[in-house]
Amino acid sequence: MKKALLTIVSGVFVLLGTMQAQITHSIAVNRYSSATLTDIDAKRILADATTILQQNDGAGDVSCNVTFSLSGSVGTFSAGNGIINSAADYQKVCQQSGRIHIVNEINWCGGVTPSPGNIFIGCSDTPGACMIMVRLAASNEESVCWTHEFGHNQGLGHRDADFAVMNSVVAADHKRVNATECAAFAKQTMMAATESVQPSSKEAEPHIEKKAGPMSIKDFVHQRFLHGVPFKEASAYPQTATTELLDMLVEPTEEAYYSNIILTICMIGDAGAVDDLIAFFNKGEGKLNMSVYNAKKAVLMGLGYIVNKSGSEKALRFLLEAVKPEYWAKRKIHGRRHTIYQKKVFTSI
Ligand SMILES: [Zn+2]
Repeated sequence: MKKALLTIVSGVFVLLGTMQAQITHSIAVNRYSSATLTDIDAKRILADATTILQQNDGAGDVSCNVTFSLSGSVGTFSAGNGIINSAADYQKVCQQSGRIHIVNEINWCGGVTPSPGNIFIGCSDTPGACMIMVRLAASNEESVCWTHEFGHNQGLGHRDADFAVMNSVVAADHKRVNATECAAFAKQTMMAATESVQPSSKEAEPHIEKKAGPMSIKDFVHQRFLHGVPFKEASAYPQTATTELLDMLVEPTEEAYYSNIILTICMIGDAGAVDDLIAFFNKGEGKLNMSVYNAKKAVLMGLGYIVNKSGSEKALRFLLEAVKPEYWAKRKIHGRRHTIYQKKVFTSI
């Protein structure tokens, strides 16, 4: 009898465990004045993020009864210049109202200053009430990114399991959360920026444990790294991988991955690639599209790695030359938006 009662009681607990109460997070969203995000966009991304959490997508995933909704309308702010280059920029944006802040570029996240691999797509308090993100072209990746960054706000770190939302790489099929993560997603949120005093802490640095392992160099650079190309993994590839990467760099179909390709070449540290990288940098003029602009920026930042690893004088001479503004005028190259920003980046090399 006692045993039966115990069975019934534990049965009730099991039932209660599966009937997790519905939690709704009403999220205030704000964008920098020149960044684009409509109410419709925000609602769609939040609805997709809700599906990511609620739907069981296979092994290791739990159906997590959390709903995201847009609080009011998407607001705008004009503080800063839409680019996060420093802790001060980060804080200034986080002090704007709302939890989610859409900007145009993120080059700093939690102490990571301009250096190779720091082209970020999201940076968030961990834990806290501020998320800063850029728009992504692929909407199914964008909803993963929003879910991931919200997870950081709720105190979650990275978990580099296959298909995990909290994987440090964002991919359309990274949709799974385990029970512990679900509990964190379901917690009452901290108050968003205007109500809170200061973001409590930032994500210290990308903490990536994955090894280069069996992944091909092509698959590696085709990933969309949430927090930049991971140095440990990239530098683990042999110098022989450089040839394949340089071939990819002349393929227009690879344009979206040029930055990853360049940074990986540089992190591998092959001095033999310096001429090709400089040639890539010097190619073309006029206004650059975002992929090419980021790729040229990656050459400047990445060559420092080659100098460091191989002592290449050619790379060093090029970098010293490229920090001079005359060099830019001569090459007729314009950044996407901000010349001031270019100067900032170049003088910090
Ligand atoms: Zn992350």
